[in-house]
Amino acid sequence: MPVLVMKFGGTSVANIDRIRRAAKRVGLEVAKGYDVIVIVSAMSGKTNELVGWVNEISPLHDAREYDAVVSAGENVTAGLMALTLQEMDIPARSWQGWQVPLKTNSAHSAARIEEIPTDNINGRFAQGMRVAVVAGFQGISPEGRITTLGRGGSDTTAVAFAAAFDAERCDIYTDVDGVYTTDPRITSKARKLEKIAFEEMLELASLGAKVLQTRSVELAMRYNVKLRVLSSFEEPSDEAGTLVCAEEEIMESQVVSGIAYSRDEAKMTLISVADRPGIAAAIFGPLSEAGVNVDMIIQNIAEEGRTDMTFSCPTDQVIRAEKALREAKERGDINYHDLIADTNVAKISAVGIGMRSQSGVAAKMFKTLSDEGINIKVIATSEIKISVLIDRKYMELAVQALHDAFELDKAA
Ligand code: ADP
Ligand code: ASP
Ligand code: MG
Repeated sequence: MPVLVMKFGGTSVANIDRIRRAAKRVGLEVAKGYDVIVIVSAMSGKTNELVGWVNEISPLHDAREYDAVVSAGENVTAGLMALTLQEMDIPARSWQGWQVPLKTNSAHSAARIEEIPTDNINGRFAQGMRVAVVAGFQGISPEGRITTLGRGGSDTTAVAFAAAFDAERCDIYTDVDGVYTTDPRITSKARKLEKIAFEEMLELASLGAKVLQTRSVELAMRYNVKLRVLSSFEEPSDEAGTLVCAEEEIMESQVVSGIAYSRDEAKMTLISVADRPGIAAAIFGPLSEAGVNVDMIIQNIAEEGRTDMTFSCPTDQVIRAEKALREAKERGDINYHDLIADTNVAKISAVGIGMRSQSGVAAKMFKTLSDEGINIKVIATSEIKISVLIDRKYMELAVQALHDAFELDKAA
Protein backbone atom coordinates (compact mmCIF):
# COMPACT_ATOMS: atom_id res chain seq x y z
CA MET A 1 0.00 0.00 0.00
CA PRO A 2 1.22 3.53 -0.64
CA VAL A 3 2.67 5.31 2.37
CA LEU A 4 1.79 8.81 3.51
CA VAL A 5 3.62 10.80 6.20
CA MET A 6 1.52 13.22 8.30
CA LYS A 7 3.24 15.45 10.86
CA PHE A 8 1.28 17.26 13.56
CA GLY A 9 2.95 20.23 15.28
CA GLY A 10 2.49 21.26 18.89
CA THR A 11 -0.71 23.28 18.49
CA SER A 12 -2.30 20.43 16.52
CA VAL A 13 -1.84 18.06 19.48
CA ALA A 14 -2.17 20.65 22.27
CA ASN A 15 -4.91 18.76 24.13
CA ILE A 16 -7.05 15.62 23.91
CA ASP A 17 -9.68 17.27 21.69
CA ARG A 18 -7.06 18.31 19.19
CA ILE A 19 -5.42 14.89 19.23
CA ARG A 20 -8.86 13.43 18.40
CA ARG A 21 -9.28 15.95 15.58
CA ALA A 22 -5.83 15.07 14.18
CA ALA A 23 -6.58 11.35 14.51
CA LYS A 24 -9.75 11.88 12.43
CA ARG A 25 -7.56 13.39 9.69
CA VAL A 26 -5.38 10.31 9.83
CA GLY A 27 -8.47 8.11 9.65
CA LEU A 28 -9.54 9.80 6.39
CA GLU A 29 -6.21 8.92 4.76
CA VAL A 30 -6.33 5.34 6.08
CA ALA A 31 -9.80 5.02 4.55
CA LYS A 32 -8.33 6.08 1.19
CA GLY A 33 -5.99 3.08 1.40
CA TYR A 34 -2.77 4.62 2.70
CA ASP A 35 -0.51 3.14 5.33
CA VAL A 36 0.25 6.22 7.40
CA ILE A 37 3.30 7.24 9.37
CA VAL A 38 2.26 9.95 11.83
CA ILE A 39 5.00 12.10 13.31
CA VAL A 40 4.00 14.01 16.42
CA SER A 41 5.47 16.99 18.26
CA ALA A 42 5.10 17.56 21.97
CA MET A 43 1.94 19.40 23.11
CA SER A 44 2.51 23.12 22.52
CA GLY A 45 4.53 24.74 25.30
CA LYS A 46 5.79 21.41 26.69
CA THR A 47 9.25 21.50 25.11
CA ASN A 48 9.75 25.09 26.32
CA GLU A 49 8.78 24.00 29.82
CA LEU A 50 11.26 21.10 29.74
CA VAL A 51 14.06 23.34 28.39
CA GLY A 52 13.27 25.84 31.18
CA TRP A 53 13.62 23.18 33.87
CA VAL A 54 16.97 22.02 32.49
CA ASN A 55 18.30 25.59 32.38
CA GLU A 56 17.04 26.29 35.89
CA ILE A 57 18.99 23.35 37.29
CA SER A 58 22.06 23.72 35.10
CA PRO A 59 22.66 26.66 32.73
CA LEU A 60 25.79 25.06 31.25
CA HIS A 61 24.16 21.61 31.22
CA ASP A 62 25.39 18.24 30.02
CA ALA A 63 23.86 18.03 26.53
CA ARG A 64 23.12 14.29 26.90
CA GLU A 65 20.87 14.94 29.87
CA TYR A 66 19.28 17.95 28.12
CA ASP A 67 18.26 15.56 25.33
CA ALA A 68 17.04 12.94 27.81
CA VAL A 69 14.70 15.54 29.30
CA VAL A 70 13.51 17.61 26.32
CA SER A 71 12.73 14.58 24.13
CA ALA A 72 10.11 13.46 26.66
CA GLY A 73 7.24 15.65 25.41
CA GLU A 74 6.98 13.73 22.14
CA ASN A 75 6.79 10.38 23.93
CA VAL A 76 3.55 11.44 25.59
CA THR A 77 1.81 12.60 22.40
CA ALA A 78 2.95 9.51 20.45
CA GLY A 79 1.32 7.18 22.97
CA LEU A 80 -1.84 9.31 23.23
CA MET A 81 -2.20 9.46 19.43
CA ALA A 82 -1.83 5.67 19.10
CA LEU A 83 -4.45 5.14 21.82
CA THR A 84 -6.85 7.59 20.14
CA LEU A 85 -6.49 5.78 16.82
CA GLN A 86 -7.05 2.41 18.50
CA GLU A 87 -10.25 3.79 20.04
CA MET A 88 -11.34 4.53 16.46
CA ASP A 89 -10.65 0.87 15.55
CA ILE A 90 -7.62 1.78 13.47
CA PRO A 91 -4.69 -0.61 14.08
CA ALA A 92 -1.96 1.72 15.34
CA ARG A 93 1.24 1.49 17.37
CA SER A 94 3.58 4.16 18.80
CA TRP A 95 7.37 4.20 18.36
CA GLN A 96 9.93 6.26 20.18
CA GLY A 97 13.00 7.23 18.17
CA TRP A 98 15.25 4.52 19.62
CA GLN A 99 12.69 1.82 18.86
CA VAL A 100 12.68 2.48 15.09
CA PRO A 101 15.68 3.00 15.53
CA LEU A 102 16.19 6.48 14.11
CA LYS A 103 19.99 6.61 14.13
CA THR A 104 21.74 9.97 14.46
CA ASN A 105 25.26 11.20 15.08
CA SER A 106 26.35 12.23 18.59
CA ALA A 107 25.82 16.00 18.21
CA HIS A 108 23.45 16.25 21.18
CA SER A 109 20.71 18.90 20.92
CA ALA A 110 21.46 19.39 17.20
CA ALA A 111 21.91 15.81 15.98
CA ARG A 112 21.87 14.84 12.31
CA ILE A 113 19.93 11.82 11.10
CA GLU A 114 22.17 9.10 9.69
CA GLU A 115 19.84 6.21 9.00
CA ILE A 116 16.23 5.11 9.35
CA PRO A 117 15.86 1.33 8.90
CA THR A 118 12.42 0.56 7.46
CA ASP A 119 12.12 -3.19 8.07
CA ASN A 120 10.74 -2.88 11.58
CA ILE A 121 7.77 -0.65 10.70
CA ASN A 122 7.22 -2.18 7.24
CA GLY A 123 7.04 -5.59 8.89
CA ARG A 124 4.20 -4.34 11.06
CA PHE A 125 2.42 -2.76 8.10
CA ALA A 126 2.62 -6.17 6.38
CA GLN A 127 0.89 -7.71 9.41
CA GLY A 128 -2.04 -5.30 9.17
CA MET A 129 -0.97 -2.31 11.28
CA ARG A 130 -2.23 0.79 9.44
CA VAL A 131 -0.64 3.65 11.36
CA ALA A 132 2.84 3.95 12.87
CA VAL A 133 2.89 6.90 15.27
CA VAL A 134 6.47 8.09 15.69
CA ALA A 135 7.72 10.55 18.31
CA GLY A 136 9.31 13.40 16.36
CA PHE A 137 12.49 15.35 17.19
CA GLN A 138 14.39 12.40 18.72
CA GLY A 139 16.81 9.65 17.81
CA ILE A 140 19.59 7.49 19.21
CA SER A 141 23.35 8.08 19.00
CA PRO A 142 25.99 5.46 18.15
CA GLU A 143 26.71 5.40 21.91
CA GLY A 144 23.11 4.39 22.56
CA ARG A 145 21.99 7.68 24.11
CA ILE A 146 18.86 9.66 23.23
CA THR A 147 19.52 12.63 20.92
CA THR A 148 17.35 15.52 19.70
CA LEU A 149 17.43 17.22 16.32
CA GLY A 150 17.28 20.90 17.33
CA ARG A 151 14.18 23.02 17.96
CA GLY A 152 11.51 22.44 15.34
CA GLY A 153 13.13 19.08 14.59
CA SER A 154 9.90 17.10 14.15
CA ASP A 155 9.63 18.60 10.66
CA THR A 156 12.95 16.96 9.87
CA THR A 157 11.84 13.63 11.35
CA ALA A 158 8.80 13.77 9.06
CA VAL A 159 10.71 14.49 5.86
CA ALA A 160 13.37 11.90 6.69
CA PHE A 161 10.67 9.25 7.17
CA ALA A 162 9.02 10.28 3.90
CA ALA A 163 12.36 9.81 2.11
CA ALA A 164 13.19 6.51 3.84
CA PHE A 165 9.73 4.98 3.20
CA ASP A 166 9.40 6.48 -0.28
CA ALA A 167 6.14 8.13 0.82
CA GLU A 168 3.77 9.56 -1.73
CA ARG A 169 3.70 12.86 0.19
CA CYS A 170 4.79 14.47 3.44
CA ASP A 171 2.05 16.66 4.93
CA ILE A 172 3.09 19.09 7.67
CA TYR A 173 0.02 20.09 9.71
CA THR A 174 0.54 23.29 11.65
CA ASP A 175 -1.32 26.33 13.03
CA VAL A 176 -1.22 28.33 9.78
CA ASP A 177 -2.77 27.13 6.52
CA GLY A 178 0.44 27.30 4.50
CA VAL A 179 3.62 29.22 3.81
CA TYR A 180 3.01 32.96 3.55
CA THR A 181 4.91 35.85 1.98
CA THR A 182 5.88 36.68 5.58
CA ASP A 183 4.83 35.58 9.05
CA PRO A 184 1.05 36.22 9.08
CA ARG A 185 1.38 37.19 12.75
CA ILE A 186 3.35 40.29 11.74
CA THR A 187 1.07 41.61 9.02
CA SER A 188 -2.46 40.76 7.99
CA LYS A 189 -1.42 41.59 4.42
CA ALA A 190 0.72 38.44 4.27
CA ARG A 191 -0.45 36.30 1.36
CA LYS A 192 -0.56 32.53 1.28
CA LEU A 193 1.59 31.01 -1.44
CA GLU A 194 0.21 28.13 -3.48
CA LYS A 195 3.73 26.90 -4.21
CA ILE A 196 7.21 27.85 -3.12
CA ALA A 197 10.55 26.66 -4.53
CA PHE A 198 12.81 24.54 -2.32
CA GLU A 199 15.64 27.10 -2.59
CA GLU A 200 13.41 29.96 -1.44
CA MET A 201 11.91 27.95 1.41
CA LEU A 202 15.41 26.94 2.46
CA GLU A 203 16.51 30.58 2.65
CA LEU A 204 13.32 31.71 4.43
CA ALA A 205 13.67 28.91 6.98
CA SER A 206 17.34 29.52 7.65
CA LEU A 207 16.67 33.27 7.97
CA GLY A 208 14.06 32.79 10.65
CA ALA A 209 10.68 31.68 9.19
CA LYS A 210 10.12 28.85 11.63
CA VAL A 211 7.19 27.29 9.76
CA LEU A 212 9.63 24.56 8.64
CA GLN A 213 12.96 23.57 10.20
CA THR A 214 15.77 24.38 7.75
CA ARG A 215 17.14 20.85 7.74
CA SER A 216 13.73 19.45 6.74
CA VAL A 217 13.74 21.59 3.60
CA GLU A 218 17.30 20.50 2.79
CA LEU A 219 16.28 16.85 3.03
CA ALA A 220 13.11 17.34 1.00
CA MET A 221 15.16 19.02 -1.73
CA ARG A 222 17.84 16.33 -1.75
CA TYR A 223 15.40 13.38 -1.84
CA ASN A 224 12.71 15.14 -3.86
CA VAL A 225 10.05 14.63 -1.21
CA LYS A 226 6.65 16.08 -2.09
CA LEU A 227 6.25 18.43 0.86
CA ARG A 228 3.04 20.23 1.78
CA VAL A 229 2.36 22.66 4.64
CA LEU A 230 -1.27 22.93 5.74
CA SER A 231 -3.54 23.58 8.70
CA SER A 232 -5.09 20.88 10.86
CA PHE A 233 -7.95 23.28 11.65
CA GLU A 234 -9.27 23.68 8.10
CA GLU A 235 -11.58 21.39 6.18
CA PRO A 236 -9.61 18.70 4.30
CA SER A 237 -9.08 19.37 0.59
CA ASP A 238 -6.56 18.31 -2.04
CA GLU A 239 -5.70 21.93 -2.88
CA ALA A 240 -5.15 23.00 0.73
CA GLY A 241 -1.90 24.48 1.93
CA THR A 242 1.37 25.28 0.20
CA LEU A 243 3.41 22.87 -1.88
CA VAL A 244 7.19 23.15 -1.49
CA CYS A 245 8.53 22.01 -4.84
CA ALA A 246 11.17 22.35 -7.55
CA GLU A 247 11.60 25.76 -9.15
CA GLU A 248 10.49 24.41 -12.55
CA GLU A 249 7.01 23.61 -11.20
CA ILE A 250 6.30 27.26 -10.46
CA MET A 251 4.82 29.35 -13.25
CA GLU A 252 4.45 32.78 -11.68
CA SER A 253 7.52 34.09 -10.00
CA GLN A 254 8.16 37.38 -8.28
CA VAL A 255 11.53 39.00 -7.82
CA VAL A 256 11.06 38.92 -4.06
CA SER A 257 8.80 36.14 -2.80
CA GLY A 258 9.10 36.49 0.95
CA ILE A 259 10.34 38.49 3.93
CA ALA A 260 11.83 36.66 6.92
CA TYR A 261 12.89 37.96 10.30
CA SER A 262 14.88 36.64 13.21
CA ARG A 263 14.82 38.28 16.61
CA ASP A 264 17.45 35.92 18.01
CA GLU A 265 20.39 37.70 16.45
CA ALA A 266 23.25 39.48 18.22
CA LYS A 267 25.82 41.90 16.85
CA MET A 268 29.34 41.55 18.25
CA THR A 269 32.06 44.11 17.66
CA LEU A 270 35.75 43.74 18.38
CA ILE A 271 37.15 47.21 18.87
CA SER A 272 40.61 47.96 17.55
CA VAL A 273 42.17 44.74 16.33
CA ALA A 274 45.47 44.75 14.44
CA ASP A 275 44.89 44.87 10.67
CA ARG A 276 47.31 42.19 9.51
CA PRO A 277 47.23 39.08 7.30
CA GLY A 278 45.67 36.19 9.20
CA ILE A 279 43.63 38.29 11.62
CA ALA A 280 40.26 37.05 10.30
CA ALA A 281 41.41 33.45 10.64
CA ALA A 282 42.67 34.15 14.17
CA ILE A 283 39.23 35.51 15.15
CA PHE A 284 36.85 33.21 13.31
CA GLY A 285 38.84 29.99 13.75
CA PRO A 286 38.30 29.84 17.54
CA LEU A 287 34.66 30.93 17.11
CA SER A 288 34.03 28.07 14.73
CA GLU A 289 35.76 25.60 17.06
CA ALA A 290 33.52 26.82 19.88
CA GLY A 291 30.46 26.01 17.75
CA VAL A 292 29.45 29.65 17.16
CA ASN A 293 27.44 30.10 13.97
CA VAL A 294 28.76 33.36 12.58
CA ASP A 295 26.51 34.83 9.91
CA MET A 296 27.31 38.37 8.77
CA ILE A 297 30.81 39.88 8.95
CA ILE A 298 32.15 43.38 8.34
CA GLN A 299 35.66 44.67 8.68
CA ASN A 300 35.95 48.43 8.76
CA ILE A 301 38.60 50.55 7.08
CA ALA A 302 41.82 50.47 9.05
CA GLU A 303 43.35 53.54 10.60
CA GLU A 304 46.96 53.42 11.75
CA GLY A 305 47.01 49.66 11.32
CA ARG A 306 44.01 48.96 13.52
CA THR A 307 40.41 48.18 12.63
CA ASP A 308 37.04 47.18 14.10
CA MET A 309 35.56 43.80 13.21
CA THR A 310 31.81 43.21 13.48
CA PHE A 311 29.93 39.93 13.14
CA SER A 312 26.51 38.52 13.96
CA CYS A 313 25.60 35.25 15.67
CA PRO A 314 22.54 33.78 17.44
CA THR A 315 21.82 35.48 20.78
CA ASP A 316 22.15 32.25 22.75
CA GLN A 317 25.73 31.82 21.49
CA VAL A 318 26.99 35.19 22.75
CA ILE A 319 28.43 33.80 25.98
CA ARG A 320 30.26 31.06 24.08
CA ALA A 321 31.59 33.61 21.56
CA GLU A 322 32.83 35.93 24.30
CA LYS A 323 34.60 33.04 26.03
CA ALA A 324 36.30 31.87 22.80
CA LEU A 325 37.53 35.38 21.97
CA ARG A 326 38.70 36.08 25.53
CA GLU A 327 40.72 32.85 25.50
CA ALA A 328 42.24 33.70 22.11
CA LYS A 329 43.26 37.07 23.54
CA GLU A 330 44.79 35.44 26.62
CA ARG A 331 46.79 33.09 24.38
CA GLY A 332 48.06 36.16 22.52
CA ASP A 333 46.53 35.03 19.20
CA ILE A 334 44.49 38.21 18.86
CA ASN A 335 44.54 41.58 20.52
CA TYR A 336 41.56 43.90 20.89
CA HIS A 337 40.66 46.82 23.12
CA ASP A 338 37.06 45.90 23.76
CA LEU A 339 34.34 43.43 22.83
CA ILE A 340 30.81 44.82 22.59
CA ALA A 341 27.75 42.57 22.33
CA ASP A 342 24.53 44.20 21.11
CA THR A 343 21.61 41.84 21.69
CA ASN A 344 18.93 44.38 20.80
CA VAL A 345 19.05 43.73 17.08
CA ALA A 346 16.97 41.76 14.60
CA LYS A 347 17.73 40.43 11.16
CA ILE A 348 15.33 41.16 8.31
CA SER A 349 15.75 39.40 4.97
CA ALA A 350 14.18 39.61 1.52
CA VAL A 351 14.29 36.33 -0.40
CA GLY A 352 13.52 35.50 -4.02
CA ILE A 353 15.00 33.45 -6.85
CA GLY A 354 14.05 36.28 -9.21
CA MET A 355 16.90 38.30 -7.66
CA ARG A 356 19.37 36.28 -9.70
CA SER A 357 18.33 38.13 -12.83
CA GLN A 358 16.97 41.43 -11.47
CA SER A 359 18.97 44.28 -10.09
CA GLY A 360 17.71 47.06 -7.84
CA VAL A 361 16.32 44.91 -5.05
CA ALA A 362 18.96 46.00 -2.53
CA ALA A 363 18.52 49.67 -3.46
CA LYS A 364 14.76 49.40 -2.97
CA MET A 365 15.17 47.65 0.35
CA PHE A 366 17.59 50.29 1.69
CA LYS A 367 15.41 53.17 0.47
CA THR A 368 12.31 51.66 2.09
CA LEU A 369 14.06 51.31 5.45
CA SER A 370 15.52 54.78 5.20
CA ASP A 371 12.07 56.27 4.47
CA GLU A 372 10.92 54.71 7.77
CA GLY A 373 13.92 56.22 9.56
CA ILE A 374 15.39 52.78 10.27
CA ASN A 375 19.16 52.60 10.50
CA ILE A 376 20.92 49.60 8.92
CA LYS A 377 23.75 48.23 11.06
CA VAL A 378 25.04 45.33 8.96
CA ILE A 379 24.26 44.09 5.44
CA ALA A 380 24.79 40.67 3.88
CA THR A 381 23.78 39.43 0.44
CA SER A 382 23.81 36.21 -1.52
CA GLU A 383 22.43 35.22 -4.90
CA ILE A 384 18.80 35.05 -3.75
CA LYS A 385 18.67 37.03 -0.50
CA ILE A 386 19.51 40.34 1.13
CA SER A 387 19.70 40.57 4.92
CA VAL A 388 20.08 43.57 7.17
CA LEU A 389 20.59 43.93 10.89
CA ILE A 390 18.51 46.67 12.52
CA ASP A 391 17.38 47.72 16.00
CA ARG A 392 14.91 45.12 17.24
CA LYS A 393 12.29 47.74 18.16
CA TYR A 394 11.79 48.42 14.42
CA MET A 395 11.46 44.76 13.44
CA GLU A 396 7.69 44.65 12.82
CA LEU A 397 7.71 48.03 11.10
CA ALA A 398 10.54 46.95 8.78
CA VAL A 399 8.78 43.70 7.81
CA GLN A 400 5.52 45.55 7.10
CA ALA A 401 7.22 48.33 5.11
CA LEU A 402 9.20 45.87 2.97
CA HIS A 403 6.15 43.69 2.42
CA ASP A 404 4.36 46.79 1.08
CA ALA A 405 7.32 48.02 -0.96
CA PHE A 406 7.73 44.72 -2.80
CA GLU A 407 3.93 44.46 -3.21
CA LEU A 408 3.87 40.97 -1.77
CA ASP A 409 0.17 41.23 -0.98
CA LYS A 410 -0.48 41.05 -4.74
CA ALA A 411 -0.02 37.88 -6.76
CA ALA A 412 2.47 38.03 -9.64
P1 ADP B 1 4.43 23.79 14.74
O1 ADP B 1 4.30 23.78 16.22
O2 ADP B 1 3.22 23.28 14.03
O3 ADP B 1 5.69 23.13 14.26
P2 ADP B 1 5.66 26.40 14.42
O4 ADP B 1 5.31 27.38 15.47
O5 ADP B 1 6.98 25.73 14.52
O6 ADP B 1 4.48 25.32 14.32
O7 ADP B 1 5.59 27.09 12.98
C1 ADP B 1 4.42 27.74 12.57
C2 ADP B 1 4.56 29.25 12.77
O8 ADP B 1 5.54 29.77 11.87
C3 ADP B 1 3.33 30.05 12.43
O9 ADP B 1 2.45 30.10 13.52
C4 ADP B 1 3.88 31.42 12.05
O10 ADP B 1 3.77 32.37 13.09
C5 ADP B 1 5.37 31.16 11.81
N1 ADP B 1 5.84 31.67 10.51
C6 ADP B 1 6.95 32.44 10.33
N2 ADP B 1 7.10 32.79 9.06
C7 ADP B 1 6.08 32.21 8.36
C8 ADP B 1 5.71 32.20 6.98
N3 ADP B 1 6.42 32.84 6.05
N4 ADP B 1 4.59 31.52 6.62
C9 ADP B 1 3.87 30.87 7.56
N5 ADP B 1 4.17 30.84 8.89
C10 ADP B 1 5.27 31.51 9.29
N1 ASP C 1 8.85 19.83 20.29
C1 ASP C 1 10.08 20.26 19.63
C2 ASP C 1 10.18 21.78 19.69
O1 ASP C 1 9.31 22.44 20.21
C3 ASP C 1 10.19 19.76 18.24
C4 ASP C 1 9.09 20.20 17.30
O2 ASP C 1 8.00 20.52 17.74
O3 ASP C 1 9.33 20.19 16.08
O4 ASP C 1 11.16 22.32 19.25
MG1 MG D 1 7.72 23.79 14.17
